[in-house]
Amino acid sequence: MENKDNKMEKIVSLCKRRGFIFPGSEIYGGMANSYDYGPLGVELKNNIKQGWWKRFVHQRTDMVGIDAALIMNTKVWEASGHLDNFSDPLVECKKCHARFREDHLKSKDKCPECGAKKSFTASKQFNMMFKTFIGPAEESANVAYLRPETAQSIFINFKNILNFSRKRIPFGVAQIGKAFRNEITPGNFIFRTREFEQMEIEYFIPVPKKDKDWNKYFEYWRDEMKKWIQELGIDLKNIHELEIPKKELAHYSKRTIDFEYKFPFGQDELYGLAYRTDFDLKNHTKFSGEKLEYIDPETGEKYIPHVIEPSLGVDRTVLAIILEAYSEEEVKGEPRVVLKLPVWLAPIKIAILPLSKKEELSKVAHKVYEDLNQEFICEYDETQSIGKRYRRQDEIGTPYCITVDFESLNDKAVTIRERDSMKQERIKIGELKDYFKNKIE
Ligand SMILES: [Zn+2]
Repeated sequence: MENKDNKMEKIVSLCKRRGFIFPGSEIYGGMANSYDYGPLGVELKNNIKQGWWKRFVHQRTDMVGIDAALIMNTKVWEASGHLDNFSDPLVECKKCHARFREDHLKSKDKCPECGAKKSFTASKQFNMMFKTFIGPAEESANVAYLRPETAQSIFINFKNILNFSRKRIPFGVAQIGKAFRNEITPGNFIFRTREFEQMEIEYFIPVPKKDKDWNKYFEYWRDEMKKWIQELGIDLKNIHELEIPKKELAHYSKRTIDFEYKFPFGQDELYGLAYRTDFDLKNHTKFSGEKLEYIDPETGEKYIPHVIEPSLGVDRTVLAIILEAYSEEEVKGEPRVVLKLPVWLAPIKIAILPLSKKEELSKVAHKVYEDLNQEFICEYDETQSIGKRYRRQDEIGTPYCITVDFESLNDKAVTIRERDSMKQERIKIGELKDYFKNKIE
């Protein structure tokens, strides 16, 4: 029943119609591959980020967080290798001048844009960092780059963090923030955009005494990532772990696993886990002259720690969650679209729906709304038929709907409808807070 191509179309349309994600700069004709998160999208995204931070920073004793600047000293990118190595092979069609990433082309014989045969230039390396200028003069001395990843700001703050936090190895530093890549071929909705948000951890470990000593940490983080994926409501059967072959590894990595999700447009990277060795701290030590080392408080041994890096894209998480939660059902001969989001991710937790707009009912319903809204994100809706209002809440993934009816005036109770089972139960208004505390928190 579900057609794969139109599943993406349906998701894009639902996201716009229901206020999750809008096309960027729309009133000016849009801007290709840029998107804005609407009122429900920002709630979903915040739930993801807050859940991640709680799980990987607050609830652990071996983790601290930072939030660093987007534009850093250009020497950071010299040391990290991004100035020399962070590029993709670019080819241009001589006929229509469309540009493509060579490794994304199905065939080099025919231009996918204009159909010209054998029309491509030789490939050249195109650096993906966004360049800008600091100050009023556009001179090469003032060149700066928007960060292409969040990781480097953790490495360059290593000494500050260590002095402040007195953490003992192994420990990690987490950061959530935006990164920018001037992608040659962005696309597939929010999957590949030039501006995106990352959730990254740099986890510092001792120097491996023998080969593969680092692997137990790597495997530990591999498990943690799988647990997180399941908490998002994503079935592991839709995840493929791709061991990146040695010759394709990034310049800093000794081992990388991509966690690929089965997107409707193909299986592609959702998250990455990399063993970055001591590459970054070593290079920043060399380039900055600052010793980015750790002194073991027991043995007095000084060393540059190695690093395991779980790297997660926020926008890709949003997309995978929505795709996974999206379902179409038939109820009494009527189609029903439901976002079966885990309760903790749902943008709206409870919708309050009075059966009629009559003042005696809306008075009671509004009181319920104002009370519950202090603790849970709620929505009040009294327009249209109750059936239409249920369907709207189903489509945005609201786990609970409360209807207030004329009987409520007598029995001081309301009906709660659960999204997935559509089961209804009658609960006293005075007991609602405790009821939802158990279900939602
Ligand atoms: Zn062409």
